[in-house]
This record gives sequence, structure tokens and C-alpha cells, in this order.
Amino acid sequence: MEKTMEKIVALAKARGFVYPGSEIYGGLANTWDYGNLGVELKNNVKKAWWKKFIQENPYNVGVDCAILMNPQTWVASGHLGGFSDPLMDCKECHERFRADKMIEDYMQENGIEIQGSVDAWSNEEMSNYIDEKNIACPTCGKHNFTEIRQFNLMFKTFQGVTEDAKNTVYLRPETAQGIFVNFKNVQRTSRKKIPFGIGQVGKSFRNEITPGNFTFRTREFEQMELEFFCEPDTDLEWFAYWKEFCVKWLQDLGIKEEEMRVRDHEAAELSFYSKATSDIEFLFPFGWGELWGIADRTDYDLSRHQEVSKEDLAYFDDEKKIKYVPYVIEPSLGADRVTLAFLCGAYDEEEIGEGDVRTVLHFHPAIAPVKIGVLPLSKKLGEGAEKIYAELSKYYNCEYDDRGNIGKRYRRQDEIGTPFCITYDFESEEDQSVTVRDRDTMEQERIKIADLKAYFEKKLEF
Ligand code: ATP
Repeated sequence: MEKTMEKIVALAKARGFVYPGSEIYGGLANTWDYGNLGVELKNNVKKAWWKKFIQENPYNVGVDCAILMNPQTWVASGHLGGFSDPLMDCKECHERFRADKMIEDYMQENGIEIQGSVDAWSNEEMSNYIDEKNIACPTCGKHNFTEIRQFNLMFKTFQGVTEDAKNTVYLRPETAQGIFVNFKNVQRTSRKKIPFGIGQVGKSFRNEITPGNFTFRTREFEQMELEFFCEPDTDLEWFAYWKEFCVKWLQDLGIKEEEMRVRDHEAAELSFYSKATSDIEFLFPFGWGELWGIADRTDYDLSRHQEVSKEDLAYFDDEKKIKYVPYVIEPSLGADRVTLAFLCGAYDEEEIGEGDVRTVLHFHPAIAPVKIGVLPLSKKLGEGAEKIYAELSKYYNCEYDDRGNIGKRYRRQDEIGTPFCITYDFESEEDQSVTVRDRDTMEQERIKIADLKAYFEKKLEF
């Protein structure tokens, strides 16, 4: 079975996971809308993150901050000055490219191992490499490029009625800064002591030069970020702790070992303020791609905000009687990217005998968009089946389907990744039992209707 993006994108559209954005107007490049199943899947992914990183975690609390922030925020964070990518045009066909990505694609296609990441190279180094290898324009095949220049990725807009410079505001390019500017507020209101973390899930915007690979890189996307504040000198221990925690979260939700790798940045590749950075990467059908960036950001963020805002952001440890600016460990994950990884990881076409093949999404039950399909064997059995549906849908997203033959209905549920199907048959009224079919093993079990709630509670635990 060949797992291709074409197949996954086609299934996503046909079944209601992801549609092209603004489709009736011919679309808007690289925008995507989540459909009836996609919204459930992505919400489940965000819920699973929140549950493990915030709800169950004794150290962490959450916030939900504004997308528009005082522009001084971006002065302090460095985004106004330095949040840019190396842009290059093809002089023949006028297509625009990100020089670092063009080189990385070239290396991946030609099996060239890279030491570190190309985005740490200077413009000159990139330019020389492109010339030396005679890399051609992916659109027209010619080799004739402009110089590389830096392009700021922040989206600009205006607040209020006059469109002038002093009313310029930016759509946040990451959720992290809302957390930093609220560090004191949250510390006071939550009464947390260091070490503690603040998490946030929300939209971010980057005017990416080359978005693409479906929802992997878009200009509007969601992030799930944790900023974990700790005492200086304990940072590397916490960095290791969170790295392991993130790997476990992915594995617990079904990402296989061979589809995942952790790439530790070498010293030369680290941002000047970072003591350690690792990326967790996933093997997409189009190659390895970053899912999660985990960085030890030292005291850079809070110090910068302290400097620019003139507010004291230091922490006083009243047991040790010491005052310091906390260090920060930041695990930053793209909600859309990891949702795509779960979709790609789950996709399978299975031979099930006699030349028959079924398409199935092996989602972990916690993220499956529909948990239980309720399928009466005949339309005549609607009354009993509807009662079961009404009861279980109080707790889980369920689907009721009484159309077509039962084999086809099972296949449809397999294709959308529903882990369990209940069949209400002609004996059900009599024995007050139903058949529960498991998506992965396709085995069936007879279960008492009265026991269904407890049965699924156990099966769907996360
Ligand atoms: P890349 O090198 O892929 O552009 P990055 O290193 O700039 O990513 P970070 O700034 O570390 O990314 O952002 C943290 C996470 O946010 C990424 O690991 C990714 O999951 C997600 N993310 C970043 N940019 C995008 C995007 N344009 N579309 C979707 N997700 C994104």
C-alpha cells in the first residue's frame, strides 16, 4: 500500500475532514476549512493536549490571550526586527521561494544528509550553495534567481479608523508572547510558585513565503504552547523532562516509533539566547517535518519584556530569599500540523481477504472524531437503536446510520476512523444486548445494553 498525500487529501475532502477554503469563489491559496469530522478531530487533539499539559499536570495552568497586542510586544520579542525568512524570486517565471526550504528540498530529494538546519545559514551561504549545485526553479526548471533578501512574516493591519503608521497592529505570529506579558498576572492569581508553567491554545498568523503540503504550512494556524518557568540552573533538567513528556504524549496517542524522530540542534544552529533546542519530527508522506519545537529560552523573553516595558518581571523565592528572572522551557506544537500527522499516521489500506481492500483510519479512540457508530440492522429496529444513541451521545460524539447494507456501513465507519460500532439486531429486544464491533480487529462481542456505558468508559479512556 502506498500512502500518498493525494489519497489522504482526497479522503479528507470526501469525508468532511478538510475542504479547500472559500471553494465556491475558486478558493484562497493555502487556506483550508475543517469540516464536520475535521472539527471533531482537531478539537479532540486540542483537548488531549490540554488534558495532559494543563488539567492533569500539577505544575501548569492555562490562559487565552488576545491575538492583537500592543506593538511594543513585538519590539521586545524581536519579531519586528528579526522575524523574517530568506526570500528569492525566479527571474524567468517570477515565482517566489524560501531559499532555505529550496535547499532543504533539494537535499532531501538527493539524499544529502544535512548537519543542522539550513535556516541557520547566511544569505550568502545559501546563495552560493544554490549556484554551486545549479539548483533549478521548481516551477520553470531554469536557474536564474534574484538575490536573497529578508522578508518579515508578520501580518499587518490597522486598529481604529485611520490607516496610518501609528495605528498599525500585528496579528500575533505565536501565542507565547501573550503568556510572557501576563507572567506576573498569572503568577499572582494562580498563587503558583516556581517551577510552574502557563499554556495556551490559539490562532497564530505568519505570512509564509511558501505555504503548502496541505495543512502542514499555512498562513493562519493554531498553536499549543507551554511556557514553563524555572529557576536558572534547573533549566536543562526541565528541558529533558518536557522533551520526554512531549514524546510520550505523541506515542500515547498512537504515533509509531518509526514515524517519529527527535533532532537535537547543534550549538551552531541554536538561537543566540537558547541553551538547548530539539525538534520532534514526523515522517509525512512528503518527508520528515517538524511537529514540535522544544527550546530552553533562558531568561531571554522575560528579560526583554522587563527591559522594554520597564516592569519588574523578576520572581522572589520567599523560601530561599532570592530574586531572579525565571528561565523558560518552551514546547511549541502546531495543532493543525499534529492533526495532519495523526491523520497520515492513521491512514491504512488493508487486505481483508478475497482480494478485498478496506480503507481505515486507525485513530487512537481519544482523537477519533466519531467514537461510536450506532447501526440498527434494519430500519424497523429504529426505536431500540435510537434509545442507545440518545444515551451514549450524552457522553460521546456518536453517529446514527440506518442506510444501506451493514457491511457498507461498517466500511464507512472504518474510513472515518470510528473505533466501535454497535449493531442492534432482531435479537436485541429479546436479550437486551447488542453486538459491538472493534474497528481494528473487526471482532464482534455481545454486550448487555445496560453495560454499554461502563464498557465504553473503559475503552475510550485517555
Ligand atoms: P518551520 O521551520 O516549519 O517554519 P518554525 O521552526 O518557524 O517552523 P516555530 O516558530 O518553532 O516553527 O513554531 C512552533 C510550531 O508551530 C511548529 O513546530 C509547527 O508545529 C507550528 N507552525 C509554525 N509555523 C506554522 C505554519 N506556517 N503552519 C502550521 N503550523 C506551523
